[in-house]
Amino acid sequence: MRRLRQTKIVATIGPASGTDEMLAHLFQAGADVFRFNFSHGTHEEHAAQLKRVRALEERVGRPIGVLADLQGPKLRVGRFANSKVSLETGNAFRLDLSEEPGCVDRVQLPHPEIFEALRPGAKLLLDDGRLCLGVTACGPDFADTKVVTGGTLSNNKGVNLPDVVLDVSPLTEKDRRDLRFALEIGISLIALSFVQRPEDVEEALGLIDGRAHLISKLEKPSAIEKLEEIVDLTDGVMVARGDLGVELPPEMVPAIQKRIIRACRQAGKPVIVATQMLDSMITAPTPTRAETSDVANAVYEGADAVMLSGETAVGQHPVAAVSMMDRIIKHSENDPAYPDLLNAGQAVPRRTTADTITESASRASATLPAAAIVTFTISGVTALRASRRRPLVPILVFTPTLWIARNLSGVWGVHTILAEMMNDHVDMDALAVKVATEENFAKSGDHLVITAGLPLHILSPTNVMRLVQIQHVETERVAEVPADIRV
Ligand code: PGA
Ligand code: MN
Repeated sequence: MRRLRQTKIVATIGPASGTDEMLAHLFQAGADVFRFNFSHGTHEEHAAQLKRVRALEERVGRPIGVLADLQGPKLRVGRFANSKVSLETGNAFRLDLSEEPGCVDRVQLPHPEIFEALRPGAKLLLDDGRLCLGVTACGPDFADTKVVTGGTLSNNKGVNLPDVVLDVSPLTEKDRRDLRFALEIGISLIALSFVQRPEDVEEALGLIDGRAHLISKLEKPSAIEKLEEIVDLTDGVMVARGDLGVELPPEMVPAIQKRIIRACRQAGKPVIVATQMLDSMITAPTPTRAETSDVANAVYEGADAVMLSGETAVGQHPVAAVSMMDRIIKHSENDPAYPDLLNAGQAVPRRTTADTITESASRASATLPAAAIVTFTISGVTALRASRRRPLVPILVFTPTLWIARNLSGVWGVHTILAEMMNDHVDMDALAVKVATEENFAKSGDHLVITAGLPLHILSPTNVMRLVQIQHVETERVAEVPADIRV
């Protein structure tokens, strides 16, 4: 079973999509990675959900990625006596630590660390930026503000602090519990919300301790200031445009998205473009034209994956949203203008053996032309380097590591096959030919560009490229793939 596109789809699972049947429909429609949103649901629910995904994986025989998205320090105001108030522009409003229900003059903000960091002149954005407060005076347990943009404020609405770097870890107590749990049940892709600085990434990586890959969600201005350092440390990135467009003026989001994608492509780190991509499909059966353009633009920019949130988690048309995304991606990738636009973001190869081979393999696949590029990897790194070059043919990746195979399902252009490492390159070629033909990537007479690190037993970096033409004689001497290492 193969996908006829290079850009991947991440679909968030929620009440609208949690059943065995819906998961199967979403996968068939094109979902490559399922995102579990730890802002919602209990551990039992997530564990049950994971079981359903693994059962689906078994049925379809393809590795499926699962991303555990940790809530992070989502800041919220307390509650009001009458559940909401109307704040008039120009009025005074106080935030404090008192648990007393709020009124039109004040409300609780149960985060002492905010009061530590606030200074007069700082802005607080409430309810996804709908309301704005300007700090006039503050102390360790209160802030007096003036309402800059008024409106209705109700219980537990979110608070964003764009101009303040909070002295808090991006991992709350809840996040730490959720992370431990996610790792325990075998989730191998973790997203960290509200990363503020490189140290946050280091802290999370320390806790993960090599058991999973880390996706840093970029949604704070302070993270954008340290973009290159963060990209360097993390395993992958999410352009979290929802909170990013609250923390920064929304008009800045498109340019920042392009900058993040460029930085990730240069570093060879997978990048997911997220939030509101087909937002209107939460209620409508078809998207707006602006939304289809947004998905297509992410594809032309060379993002690894595009993401659906509410569309598949709580929407009325989850399967239609995934198939719409699938069609937009395919159509954009088949546009004759696509190679040039994709190439505009082409990363400069490093002066390493692996990148030299990767560069050559991509060129060779276009010159011959070949049907696919084939790589073998234990850690997944070789697959990421091959994907980084954005060749115009599929990259067949063989790996013996199940969690790596699952995580690679969200990486641009990669089709992963779980297989034991071969003992010599003759077996490698045979396996590549067998799988490429069986899974409809190539047929007799087609060429494959096969890259590997020889000698195999000392884990050499990728240092050879072989051009193999598929002939019947080769498919016949293929070593059998042992059944038990197939997903
Ligand atoms: P969220 O993250 O949906 O978990 O808030 C994505 C975003 O902010 O865009
Ligand atoms: Mn967010």
